[in-house]
Amino acid sequence: MSARPAGGTRYAEPGRDRIAIIGAGHVGAATAYALMLRALFQEIVLIDNDAKRAAAEAQDIADANALARPARIWAGDYTDAAAATIAVITAGAATHGTETRLSVAARSAMIVGECVTELSAAGFNGIIVVASNPVDLMAMIAFDCAGLPAGRIIGTGTLLDSSRLRTLLAGELDVASGSVDALVLGEHGDSEVALMSTIRVGGLLLADFSNAGCELDQRALAQTVRDAGYAIVSGKGYTSYGIATAIVRICEAIVRDERIILPVSTSVDGVFGLSGVYMSMPCILGAAGVERRLIPPMSAEEAAALEASGATLRAAYDNLRRDRPR
Ligand code: NAD
Repeated sequence: MSARPAGGTRYAEPGRDRIAIIGAGHVGAATAYALMLRALFQEIVLIDNDAKRAAAEAQDIADANALARPARIWAGDYTDAAAATIAVITAGAATHGTETRLSVAARSAMIVGECVTELSAAGFNGIIVVASNPVDLMAMIAFDCAGLPAGRIIGTGTLLDSSRLRTLLAGELDVASGSVDALVLGEHGDSEVALMSTIRVGGLLLADFSNAGCELDQRALAQTVRDAGYAIVSGKGYTSYGIATAIVRICEAIVRDERIILPVSTSVDGVFGLSGVYMSMPCILGAAGVERRLIPPMSAEEAAALEASGATLRAAYDNLRRDRPR
């Protein structure tokens, strides 16, 4: 990875090396496909318990090679992951019907724990991006099992939720979503918190941007964002493209050493009196992973809701550890 020059942003050439994706299901396959189109890595290895599925997905994506961006894509094992810069964990128990993310935690914890232990045993020493749900708890499991610095374990967290909120607001206000700054923080799940007090549209507060901004039903918007994943699952059985794009965005920030600020799930030790908790806060993302965690200004009500979100995650994690065979 090339060094960052002092005093300015430089987009280093993409690393063009290897990424490992553990879990070649809907999310893993969509991620591999999006990564191939983005040409961020020269080599993409898919690892799955179901070797036949991984081989088929790898072949299907590799078939596009000559028409898109050449990359070597294959179904491998953990020895192939040892040399990877980034390992993305998408293996886990998917939610079905009305199952909440927290309700599948125990099943996913077993899977994620096994994957990270295998990665470590193979000598992997890079950055782990966790997407398996409940993603904040799975990032905590990964941190416990990997023995890597906290900044090198990153959960996709509320990057997707924040993108959904920005898109919804952009539609209501008739501006490009790129001009809307809006954050959803805390758990990626039912206790997440949309920071309505800090929304900016082209740098302006909502109220200063337009009357339409004042009339928005903020509670309903936050609820729509919270329920978005469930709505998609009820229609097609799973979600994949949105989360795959969020994963690719995180990988790109790392590989290009961007130092972009994105809301991702990270260790929040010391914030709101929490310890041993991963949840989403805005983070500077670069070659070392999470390089700094930021605490944005927020209303007292939002701060209390975030503290409660962290406490919910901590309690869920304590339950998980108590019930988890060691
Ligand atoms: P899926 O069932 O299609 O794929 C999961 C894959 O994991 C399967 O191919 C399975 O064989 C594999 N697997 C299971 N145990 C394994 C192990 N021990 N080692 C290697 N591979 C193993 O599910 P999906 O729809 O791709 O979802 C995957 C995960 O991503 C779920 O936990 C889901 O909840 C989560 N997800 C997260 C977000 C988010 O916003 N963070 C969004 C969508 C899905």
